[in-house]
Amino acid sequence: MPTTTPHPDHTPSTCAPPRGVDGARQRNGRGDTIVAISTPPGVGGIAVVRLSGPAALELALQHLAVDRLAPRSAVHCHFGEIDDGIAVYYPKGYTGEPTVEFSCHGSQYVQEAIVQALVDGGARLAEAGEFTLRAFLNGRINLSQAEAVADLIDAVTPAQHRLAVSQLRGGYAQELKALRQQLLDLTSLLELELDFSQEDVEFADRTELHQLLSRLISHISRLIDSFRMGNALKRGIPTAIIGRPNAGKSSLLNALLHEERAIVSPVAGTTRDTVEETFNMGGLTFRLIDTAGLHHTDDPLENMGIRRTIAAAVQADVILYVHDATRPWTDAVEDLQALRDDAGVDIEGSKHLWIVVNKIDLPEAVESNRKLGVAISATQGIGLEELRSTIIKAVSADMASSDQVLLTNARHYDALGRTKAALWRVAHGLADGLSADLVAVDLRDALYHLGTITGEVTNDEVLGNIFSRFCIGK
Ligand code: GDP
Repeated sequence: MPTTTPHPDHTPSTCAPPRGVDGARQRNGRGDTIVAISTPPGVGGIAVVRLSGPAALELALQHLAVDRLAPRSAVHCHFGEIDDGIAVYYPKGYTGEPTVEFSCHGSQYVQEAIVQALVDGGARLAEAGEFTLRAFLNGRINLSQAEAVADLIDAVTPAQHRLAVSQLRGGYAQELKALRQQLLDLTSLLELELDFSQEDVEFADRTELHQLLSRLISHISRLIDSFRMGNALKRGIPTAIIGRPNAGKSSLLNALLHEERAIVSPVAGTTRDTVEETFNMGGLTFRLIDTAGLHHTDDPLENMGIRRTIAAAVQADVILYVHDATRPWTDAVEDLQALRDDAGVDIEGSKHLWIVVNKIDLPEAVESNRKLGVAISATQGIGLEELRSTIIKAVSADMASSDQVLLTNARHYDALGRTKAALWRVAHGLADGLSADLVAVDLRDALYHLGTITGEVTNDEVLGNIFSRFCIGK
């Protein structure tokens, strides 16, 4: 059963945790019986109403025209006068508590009437994420697995699905948990020394502590480093489209998005703001950052856009430089030089910079320009498939080369950063011969942050933030 420990710098959150967090925690998840429609809102072929808590079976039997529900068996039955469907009783369901799931006809009226009847019978409407929260509070899943449930529900591409499933199955959290336990044991020994401080004894083997520290630090560093790729897979691979005004950046963005999201305008320099859109291709999500042109101007607004272009290009994993085929090639040469000199982008060596020669449909297009990059017409749809497949091929090759565990969760990233910093302080403290009590303070800090990942330690704010991401019924 996870305990909740307030962190020293915990300040009250403006985002109040869902009522269920406090409520369920006070009752250790063994209080009310809660009910919600667990399928998406609206009309469907069928819908599932989930009822969970100590009184779930008794409450269900009040309404179902059957005497008993055998555990884990599908039973066809009538729910009062409202509907007939399939009821399944789990003595320890998803939440770790008695649960009855009732599959009914997917009419909005039927779904709501069943929920209302159960509420009239004494159940309470579940809060957002409360079923999963109970699963966590009842020790069925750890916190990082609960977060993976949310990721799994949100997953759209195979890559996102794969990441969520790996986290749900334990992922790196189990290893961290084991390492944390070892660290905890050594900390206890170190703290024991404090009780015998007069007697100059050492219970905690310093060599063992050193080895454990370096194992943990390198493990955590690897995870922290994997976040860039993990995050790219989950949220989208940062992709910058850059080039001079009117080169056709917005048109290319629209063509890739298949939608009219960015403003396409024939007036130079109108795409002043940064627009972020994501799109999926080849099973991957790309997060496009459309920016203003790479040209010199006195207009302060446009200058801001240009600085953003550079910033975006530096952060991007995929850079598409759009060159207007009707313009002389020297434009591109100048811009790419600026990109290299101002932003340090490795133009020749970059695996992820593509030169896109646009507007090849126009008679004014300079013939020799075509060969200098991927030739396309954003508005006429020429060459787009080739562009898509070259990008996918290069990016997938990159992804395939890393079969390591990937960190995808920003909360874990933050916690690991704090853990690592505390562990460094411990390592330095030991090396400098600092007294056990001072070293123990940093060790405790490291343990705290490590423990927040899987939820050995947690607080209301963290739980509130995590479970409010869920919808009602999850
Ligand atoms: P941006 O300033 O780089 O974002 O450029 P836009 O996408 O706004 O395009 C500038 C102008 O060029 C618009 O009038 C577009 O319709 C036009 N344009 C963009 N791509 C093509 C193309 O492939 N062929 C032709 N003929 N016109 C294009």
